[in-house]
Amino acid sequence: MGGRIEHRLPPGASESNAGRIWGYTLGCRLNSYETEALLEEFCRRCGMERTSDPGKADIVLVNTCAVTGRSTARSRKTVRALLKNTGALVVATGCVVQVIPSEFEGYDVLLVPNTAKASLVDIVCGEMGIESPEAPHSAEGLIFPAIAPERMSRTRASLKIQDGCDNRCSYCIVPLARGDSRSQPREVVIAQAETLAGAGFREILLTGVDLVGYGKDLYGETYGLPELVRELLGIGGFRIRLSSMEPMGLRREMLASLAYPGVCRHLHIPVQSGSDRILEEMGRKYTAKDISGLFDVAMDLFPGIGIGSDVIVGYPGETEEDFTMTMELISHPAVTYLHVFPFSPRPGTPAAGFRDSMVHPETVTRRARVLRALSMKKRRVFRESQLGTEALVLVESRKDEDTGRLIGMTDNYIPVIAPEGAEEGDLLEMTLGMENVCWDRR
Ligand code: SF4
Repeated sequence: MGGRIEHRLPPGASESNAGRIWGYTLGCRLNSYETEALLEEFCRRCGMERTSDPGKADIVLVNTCAVTGRSTARSRKTVRALLKNTGALVVATGCVVQVIPSEFEGYDVLLVPNTAKASLVDIVCGEMGIESPEAPHSAEGLIFPAIAPERMSRTRASLKIQDGCDNRCSYCIVPLARGDSRSQPREVVIAQAETLAGAGFREILLTGVDLVGYGKDLYGETYGLPELVRELLGIGGFRIRLSSMEPMGLRREMLASLAYPGVCRHLHIPVQSGSDRILEEMGRKYTAKDISGLFDVAMDLFPGIGIGSDVIVGYPGETEEDFTMTMELISHPAVTYLHVFPFSPRPGTPAAGFRDSMVHPETVTRRARVLRALSMKKRRVFRESQLGTEALVLVESRKDEDTGRLIGMTDNYIPVIAPEGAEEGDLLEMTLGMENVCWDRR
């Protein structure tokens, strides 16, 4: 979370006299997916063209992120800069607009909260007097977007299957920004996956806020993530990668039922802390022992698995002893990289009120530095541990700077240099060696 993505002009796109649109995302993969879906909808329904230059755009779309104070400030500054430097209609949507719209007070910007994202194209077209010949895709019973974007990458497609979260962790703004957990109906997901498979994608990344909660709102306990993954794999032609899985509802049985051929040996499980006391204060309903048990099971079920995790440092009241416990949990060999977030009080969350027990900023910075150094070391150790093993590599469009050869990604999330002559989209069985593993890429 917290990154910035400019949505580039797709290859082969041409400019025209029709209105032009440019998009920009702050924050998570889900936001990026939604921006892309909106840009494609503007083109499909209104005949707009995408431009790579915001200065030439008639509409600029900014999808904001409120996950930290920093991402909120970046969202505001981005909107302000675009207002100053372009003559376009500036449209802001996303989590800051939903939760803290006052950030844009006094700005001449069209605000569309997350709850109205499904109607954003109509709202903007109404504002601009643009006619849309195609009716909007009915959003009833569906989560946004109803149509999966195809242009995010030429090899790996994302597919959003879930939104929102039923947990109420004390520090988290996501339920305020995205609401309770909702699932995309299975037949919609299957149809979208068939379209993506038909378009030639060899990997589909299932995304959502809490993938583990998939299906509960629609099917109770009768149909969840494992059942969906099994049906999707039945389509054939692609492998499945799972994005972030919250550990609260993640049972060993679910992991066991996800261990099919075709599911990437790569999970992202945000643990946030290794101190049971802090976990309880955060409202996370598990202990460090539960998590290390899950990691053990994952290593047995998916030999060679790489697990990424999110950790918050400096949660109010976090002592040196609590931090040491986090270091111990994260030292588990299943963990291969970390995303480290210094605690950031978010408006409207319980933890924002814990001002008296805030950890000193220098201590937070030091702890974050220690964990990031551990993450770097773990990446390297994991890659070394995989030398000599076989892995299925999906060749991407990026090139290695030294050799000029294409880079691919193993199913357990190790970047490798593809052999000479490999083409984008190839799925190759490779033996990992010193010469083909990329060592310095994060
Ligand atoms: S489970 Fe994750 S998204 Fe849900 S409230 Fe907790 S931290 Fe936020």
